[in-house]
Order: sequence, then C-alpha cells, then structure tokens
Amino acid sequence: MGRKIRGLHHITGITADVKKNKGFYTDVLGLRFLKKTINQDDPGTYHLYYGDYEGSAGHIMTFFGYEGSRRGRKGTGQTTRVTYYIPLNSADYWKKRLKEKNISIDETNKDRVIFQDPDGLELELLEKELSLKGWAEIIPEKYAITKFGGVTINSENPEETKAMLENIFGFKKINDEDYETEQKEIIRVKKIGSPGSIGAGSIHHVAWTTDNPETQIKDREALLENDVQVTEVVERMYFKSIYFREPGHSLFEIATNGPGFTVDEPVETLGEKLVLPPWYEHLRERIEKHLPELS
Ligand code: ZN
Repeated sequence: MGRKIRGLHHITGITADVKKNKGFYTDVLGLRFLKKTINQDDPGTYHLYYGDYEGSAGHIMTFFGYEGSRRGRKGTGQTTRVTYYIPLNSADYWKKRLKEKNISIDETNKDRVIFQDPDGLELELLEKELSLKGWAEIIPEKYAITKFGGVTINSENPEETKAMLENIFGFKKINDEDYETEQKEIIRVKKIGSPGSIGAGSIHHVAWTTDNPETQIKDREALLENDVQVTEVVERMYFKSIYFREPGHSLFEIATNGPGFTVDEPVETLGEKLVLPPWYEHLRERIEKHLPELS
C-alpha cells in the first residue's frame, strides 16, 4: 500500500495552571521544555511543548493553558491515558521519585507506574526495551523517559475507531483492544462510561505522524475516500496539520514530521523565550503582558 501513518506525533492536553504544568513535566518527569508559544487559535493563551532534546515526533506533549478553567469530565469520546516508555528496570526509581514528590501512584504492576498530572490527566510510565535514550538532564539516562508508549482511546464507537486505525492508518492489530504502530506505540481502544466533557486535565487532541506534505495529502485523500470530514492543511510553523474527528469522537490531527522546532530558534536554546508566529509579532508587547508567569 505504501501509505502509512507512522504512529504518534504529539498529544495536546489542557491545563488550568501553566506554572504547575511546566514544573511537573520538566522538573518531575524530566522532559525538555521545547517551546514557549501561543495557541494560534487563541493568541492570548499559551501553547507549551515538552519532549526530548530536539523535539522528536513521538515524544511531544503539548498543552493549551487556560488559567483557572474547570476540569473536564472523563468519559467516552475522549483520549484518556498517555503512556510513556521508560527503560527496563526503572519503574522502581520512578515509584520512589513520584512518592517523594507527594504524587499518589498506582504501583500494582512491577513494570509500570500510573499517576496523574496536576490537572488530573492520567499518565503511565511503562518499562520497554528500546535502543533509544531519553534526555538526561534532570533524570539519569538509565531511567529517563524515552518516548511515547501509546494512548487509550475511550471511543463512543469502538469498532469503527478500530477499523480506522487498522484500515486507514495501517496499524497492526495485536488483540481485540490493542493496535501497534510502526513506532512501537500501543493504541488501546475501549468504551467505558458515559460521554465525557472537555476541560482541564482532558486531552484536546492526538496528532499522528506523516512523513512529509506529500504523504499528508495522500492521508487526507484516504480520509475523504472513507467519508471522513477533514480540514484543509493548516500551517503550524513546526509542522503542517490536518484535523478530523475519529468515529468515536476524539479529535485527531495528522502532522508532518518536519520542519520541527528549530525553525525559529536554535536547538541549544529551545524554550527559553516566547516565540510567536510571524503574523503575531507586531502584537508581542500586548501578548506578553497578558500571559501569566511561568516560573
Ligand atoms: Zn496538535
């Protein structure tokens, strides 16, 4: 077939407290603060990016900051748990570390730890042998998060969501609930509870990786052929994107692998200053005054 979605690109959540959010994903989880910018669709608010040193696809967690916003309600029509891979024999390190930071954890399983971020977004660290190494500035390399391990999609229509993952995206069916991407992530599809509502602690959307703008056009055509309503290509500075709702109602995005986060600042100083899309630069002073303190 040739055309294939590689796996996860980034996952975007909503936070009600940008300062706590940044502290948690950098100081506690040890991810790199990659980019401080604004939500292009709501320029008075932050869009914060965390990941590995270079901001590789498959390792990018991003947040829209809505200060003081209400928590979402977990339920169907949402993507829920985000899993990160950690090296073998590192779960004990994380259990100890999270407990020391007064974060309540589920440590039922030996090889994984489940907990929530400050907004209540569910996270899992799962041991997995990979040749990748994590970014080791805060966390020692032998324990550092290596990449995304997957997500759980709480689908309104699980059978149709699964059909999309298998037939349009080309993911490999592992068992009745799980699909594996080429990037070794496990995408779990289930249906639990009643419809959720979006708010702080919710995942806003999940973005999948396509190689380049040409493959993105082919992905878009494949979606249209399958009667999926999809947006035109949107310029997001660091990648180009298309958006659509999967049949189970989660918002999905397909993003190009490049050009990446060094398009507007050098890799050494990523995240140090507020960067704005050029078409917002003339409003910098006003935008900066409006945004909350991050540290
Ligand atoms: Zn996105």
